Amino acid sequence: MAVPGELDGGAAHVMFIPSAGMAHLVPFFRFITALSSHGVHCSVMTVLPTVSDAEADHFAALFAAFPRIQRVDFNLLPLDATAFPGTDPFLLRWEALRRSAHLLDRLIAGATPRVSAVVTDVTLASHVIPVTKQLQLPCHVLFISSATMLSLVAYFPIHLDKKQDDGGAAGVGVGDVDIPGVRRIRQSSLPQPLHDLNHLFTKQFIDNGRALSQADGILVNTFDALEPMALAALRDGKVVPGFPPVYAIGLLKSSSSTSSSSTDGAGGERQAAAASSSPVIAWLGEQPERSVVYIAFGSRIAVSHEQIREMGAGLEASGCRFLWVLKTTVVDREDTAEPRDVLGDEFLERVKGRGLVTKGWVEQDAVLRHAAVGLFLSHSGWNSVTEAAACGVPLLAWPRGGDQRVNAMALESGGVGVWMERWSWDGEDGVVSGREIGEKVKAAMADAAVRAGAARASQEAAKAVAEGGTSYRSMQEFIGKLKAS
Ligand code: UDP
Ligand code: UDP
Repeated sequence: MAVPGELDGGAAHVMFIPSAGMAHLVPFFRFITALSSHGVHCSVMTVLPTVSDAEADHFAALFAAFPRIQRVDFNLLPLDATAFPGTDPFLLRWEALRRSAHLLDRLIAGATPRVSAVVTDVTLASHVIPVTKQLQLPCHVLFISSATMLSLVAYFPIHLDKKQDDGGAAGVGVGDVDIPGVRRIRQSSLPQPLHDLNHLFTKQFIDNGRALSQADGILVNTFDALEPMALAALRDGKVVPGFPPVYAIGLLKSSSSTSSSSTDGAGGERQAAAASSSPVIAWLGEQPERSVVYIAFGSRIAVSHEQIREMGAGLEASGCRFLWVLKTTVVDREDTAEPRDVLGDEFLERVKGRGLVTKGWVEQDAVLRHAAVGLFLSHSGWNSVTEAAACGVPLLAWPRGGDQRVNAMALESGGVGVWMERWSWDGEDGVVSGREIGEKVKAAMADAAVRAGAARASQEAAKAVAEGGTSYRSMQEFIGKLKAS
């Protein structure tokens, strides 16, 4: 049922096909709960077991909190992992999903009520779109990163074609990518696997990039005022002529706020986080306003022990209070190291009271909404960026891999924070020293301009989703399209 006064989804039934990894599930679940609150019937293709425990927990929480959202089990064909030695387990899952995509037709056609549209993750686009074409269903892509990154995905195949036409004259390797109307992305800022055209990631990336033009539309968790250039260039066909409509529908609210209230503000408010039994939130409750640096590198970034120790030294030297989420492996269930194993008991003793180091899942959204948090030292995964922007917490961006340097460019030009451009990628260019980290953290905590920029971004974010705002209207347009299909 649509909430009175809300957009009305009519009899639409959307089948969602998410991919693997929390960065992919979080925006899907947020978008699904938003659509569901507008009366759209939603089903979710679900693959179990998941790669990580965090994904399994979040699937379970979604279906428990929103019984009207339908689960459709999708059994993958077996994939021989030994044929891909050393491959990232999430990438391997994407490959397995792609190779099983032809099985989706039966599941989509058999769902009741009749499916009227499909929304797929970008990592599966080139395999899902042909299935939907056969079923004569519209297919949209929910892009889980920034609009700037979307412009790179869309333009990268054209860049390669041009390079080939030039006989590779523009230089060795992939080269810098000059995205028309958006910006030039230096080769060193591209996701690292793109340097190798034979890499499995790159093959998928190119295939999916080409397929985007066949989609009926692309949804992005951003808003016009945050990435005006990239959105305009995509919509004007400057990046790819004839590109499908791009709906900037962010910033999406967390699923839990959608379950308790459909009218909660997405951005702006800084609240002492809702009553919570979490020790992390309880600890934040004892700290002065804006006094804490929050450090977290997402759900799947493993930082080397050496770099972790330098970070510890830097945080200690900064003199700031800090909340630090430690992860040392790509997949959460393999992470058995305790903070003391990496940082030592002496360190933990010295920072006791002003620094909290924690392992495992934290409710990041609740942390960022807490009034005690004054800065977020982040890898700039797009969900982390959007969560910080919604709450007006400035970012000190230290990209570690993947799309994160591209996101860092977007967040910096959107005024959400500062990009530490010279700080190393994961495993490359050595380790950033504790001294440098400490100095930057201290300076950023004291920087009124950085804080004001983040506050402005948060106000803009709130305006975008409020009635009549750019994202509100995009959502309205999208729901109108669903009703017509
Ligand atoms: N996240 C969280 N708690 C954790 C780790 C991650 O809530 O302990 C959430 C985070 O808030 C974000 C998502 O998981 O919504 C991670 O996505 P992001 O794009 O930031 O980075 P990735 O995990 O892909 O590196
Ligand atoms: N991506 C894409 N097409 C693909 C594979 C990845 O557009 O076939 C995008 C993906 O959405 C993300 C980025 O490439 O924005 C980098 O992916 P990464 O390796 O960092 O993994 P993720 O953070 O998406 O789990």
